[in-house]
Amino acid sequence: MTSIGQMKVLFEKMREALIVTDEAGLIQTANEKTCSFLEMEKSDLRERHIHALLTPRQGEFSIEEVSRESDTGLIMWRLKQKGAGLRRESRRNSSEGTVMAALTHEIRTPMNGIVGMTDLALEEEVSPVLREYLDVIRLSADSLMRVINDILDYSKIESGKLTLEQIPFSFHSFMDEIIRMFSPQVKTKGLEFRYNPSTEIPDRIIGDPVRIRQIIQNLLNNALKFTREGHIEVSTCLDPETNPPRLYFYIADSGIGIPLNKQHLLFKSFTQVDSSTTRKYGGTGLGLAICAYLTNSMGGVIDVKSRAGKGSTFRFYIPLVLQKGDSPEEQSGTSEIPEESVSPGTCAGSAENRPVVLLMEDNRINQLLAVRAMEKAGYRVETADDGLEGIRKFETNRPDIVLLDIQMPNMDGYETAREIRRLEGESKNPVPIIAITALAMPEDRERILQSGMNDFLGKPVTPIDLKKVLNKYISN
Ligand code: ADP
Repeated sequence: MTSIGQMKVLFEKMREALIVTDEAGLIQTANEKTCSFLEMEKSDLRERHIHALLTPRQGEFSIEEVSRESDTGLIMWRLKQKGAGLRRESRRNSSEGTVMAALTHEIRTPMNGIVGMTDLALEEEVSPVLREYLDVIRLSADSLMRVINDILDYSKIESGKLTLEQIPFSFHSFMDEIIRMFSPQVKTKGLEFRYNPSTEIPDRIIGDPVRIRQIIQNLLNNALKFTREGHIEVSTCLDPETNPPRLYFYIADSGIGIPLNKQHLLFKSFTQVDSSTTRKYGGTGLGLAICAYLTNSMGGVIDVKSRAGKGSTFRFYIPLVLQKGDSPEEQSGTSEIPEESVSPGTCAGSAENRPVVLLMEDNRINQLLAVRAMEKAGYRVETADDGLEGIRKFETNRPDIVLLDIQMPNMDGYETAREIRRLEGESKNPVPIIAITALAMPEDRERILQSGMNDFLGKPVTPIDLKKVLNKYISN
């Protein structure tokens, strides 16, 4: 008869990498081979969600279910390291990822036109019926945009193109802004919205606010989607005991919950808890996989506690990085500039006195949207469909600022900017040139600045982005 101890030794020494999870997918134990494949300690693996851990590393590993114990709900998984052939396959996938990223960008541009034009139409006086139709177009465009953004992010992840920033930001105003943004939607659904901020968390921290916001928004959107009554609660707290300290976020809801035996499916790409979810609530099943990837890349972990019919609590942490040289006392108060402080009033005036913007953009819809937004903010706008026409207009009527798309036919943004700088010669007042670009890699930014441009705006450009950049570069 084999003793339990002997069984354990056998499990530990197996040549295959094995992982045991509970029904919810939380790792209970793993053998030595697994730890050496993953280069992690066994204690670091315990209680982590198997898909939240492995989906972000799917280029390196695959897992398959080996057996399932019906009494205990325990599941045994085999972990396989991808061989050269599979890695080649995953490289092929990553080139598909690049294609997807390019394709999705092509979809995003006209979508931006639909969203922007609908917003403009909603500002007009229209009949109640037309307003209702426009509201539906706006809502549908928003949900389509979310799907497109998820696919774009996912393909960026697959092709290894998703990079994280490390920039200083004010944590408390960042959280307040997210809460302010979601408040109306939660209240419209008749739910109670609670926010428990932790005062122990220093304000000036370093990280990637765009991506942290994306995780929180994703979890909040799900909470909204799957909660019909009760509440949604957001909490933050600090665990100073760990090194580095951990910044925890909790997003809890009193919604439909997730059955225990389905929780192991979460965080895996393209999965939803049951197929009726797609029909009823929409979605791609990518949101949580992206959240898992992002938290992992930031050095954190995401997991969930949920019971069917009782609600869910998603929790994630990221390591806390403080701004250098900032003592906690110095950290009170924030230096964030509220969006409202971007005042369009500074540049209003009679048409002749208004500052002139020269906009070079080949996409007519983007052109129209930007022109409307800038005219509303009190600017006079000249347009050009490409760099060549832009240069002609620049020479005949010197503008106060130039906004140019990078990817234009005939003469692209880089060449156009260099030509403008050549025409200006040693001018004491060079015109500010702002690039509008979908290229967001650090090397793209570097190239933009090297071509003589002062700044850049990422696509899709919003009216607020435009106002901010114009206010920054034009003083009157
Ligand atoms: P999707 O974009 O389809 O919502 P996610 O990856 O964000 O994809 O979520 C996957 C699935 O997890 C959802 O379809 C849903 O079944 C389940 N789920 C996620 N969050 C919640 C929640 N707060 N309450 C109940 N079920 C949830």
